[in-house]
Amino acid sequence: MTDHQHDLKNTRHKARRLTLRRHAQRRHFHFYSRVSNWTFLQNVSASPISWRAEHWILGGVCVLLTALVGIVIPTFANATRHEPAPIPYTTMALDLPNLGDEADAAIGAYGAASEPDWHVVTVRAGQSLSDIFREQGLGPNDLQRVLDSQDDASALRHIRPGQEFAFARAADGTLSAMRFERGDATRVVLHFGADGVSEDATDRAVERRTHVAHGVVTRSLFYAGERAGLSDGMVLKLANAFGYDIDFAQDLREGDSFSVIYDDLYREGERLRDGDIIAATFINQGKRYTAIRYTNADGETMYYTEDGRPLRKSFLRTPVEFTRISSTFSTGRMHPVLGYMRAHKGVDYAAPTGTPIRAAGDGKITYRGWMSGYGNFVIVQHNAHISTAYGHMSRFASEKLGDHVKQGETIGYVGMTGLATGPHLHYEFRIDGGHRDPLTVTLPPPEPLPASQLAQFRQQSAPVLAKLKLVGGSQLARNND
Ligand SMILES: [Zn+2]
Repeated sequence: MTDHQHDLKNTRHKARRLTLRRHAQRRHFHFYSRVSNWTFLQNVSASPISWRAEHWILGGVCVLLTALVGIVIPTFANATRHEPAPIPYTTMALDLPNLGDEADAAIGAYGAASEPDWHVVTVRAGQSLSDIFREQGLGPNDLQRVLDSQDDASALRHIRPGQEFAFARAADGTLSAMRFERGDATRVVLHFGADGVSEDATDRAVERRTHVAHGVVTRSLFYAGERAGLSDGMVLKLANAFGYDIDFAQDLREGDSFSVIYDDLYREGERLRDGDIIAATFINQGKRYTAIRYTNADGETMYYTEDGRPLRKSFLRTPVEFTRISSTFSTGRMHPVLGYMRAHKGVDYAAPTGTPIRAAGDGKITYRGWMSGYGNFVIVQHNAHISTAYGHMSRFASEKLGDHVKQGETIGYVGMTGLATGPHLHYEFRIDGGHRDPLTVTLPPPEPLPASQLAQFRQQSAPVLAKLKLVGGSQLARNND
């Protein structure tokens, strides 16, 4: 084997390891997202008690014991019991105070103004509003009436686990009222009458409360987060903010530390949910990373470095969650279907049919259709020079030709259309029309904020950065004494 071949093999090997590691990392996050789901969601919606065999046996034993205690104990007890002394008591007649007409009226009014008899339902993971209606024995007509009553029904179409809906019924069992939250700050009650649906909307006070936290990694990032008072969800947000620079599955070391400024949402004084990370620093293996949340002039909110560069990279290295790389980039290989030597101008990621394929970067769809050999094919043009291409899709996502897509947006699903021996994504990275190896190509750095926005960014980030330094610094001082 020549040195050149050896090098090539090494590079490929490294690339494969890198992508596998990324995959493992993503797996890791999925696991924790699921874990945090268990923590936050499952507990909220109590699962119904189901009677299994063990329960019946346990129940039977309880009944038997109760019966024995009832029969045996009194028999024994009678032998030693003394006649109880009678307890003397007297009955006294007391006049009820006269409340008067005013009080009677108040009591009456209280009754009239009292809430309907609400039956509250908590949304479980994976449920839609129509599932909930079906579960409550309500028909599609009721659901349609509810949806039709809203100018913007998005609060009903996109519901979250843990959210509550309440239903009230008339004496004949028909739906008389429904209560739900529209956004964080509005409680809506719909009343269903013969003459249509009427709506009462109440504003609820929502505020964001800012917190600071500092942690040092000992066992795991989640453990450090917990000790610093962060929820698991907030730890994930922290990991996601720095996820482009730090591989939390591989690079994390004992002694790494973080300082975070974040907020929580409170509604009418009660904690509603996690807010966002406003700014954070992470020291990983002695290297300091900073993330500052900022909404740019295009209205996009993301994390920036101290000097106004997005932390987010301009391209994802791999646009699909794959199981293995089935074919690497090469200038000549035996084509598995055609059976002769042909260049492979991309990378093949084997993945189950239906796995979402994500746009590697922001861009515009310039091709979406059948391409000989590639089957269902999509090309995304990212700027004047760079485009990416995706082949063998089983089907396309909802975007149309000419639509703009965001990085990470699903543009189609893995399949084996065209010339393919198994389901996989054929992915190409092109610069000025020339094909590059997607696994090794130097990805362009993200565009920094333009000078016009940089001044505002600096002004906005200065106090936040000062506070972060204080949090990290005071903790250091405390650790030293
Ligand atoms: Zn291919």
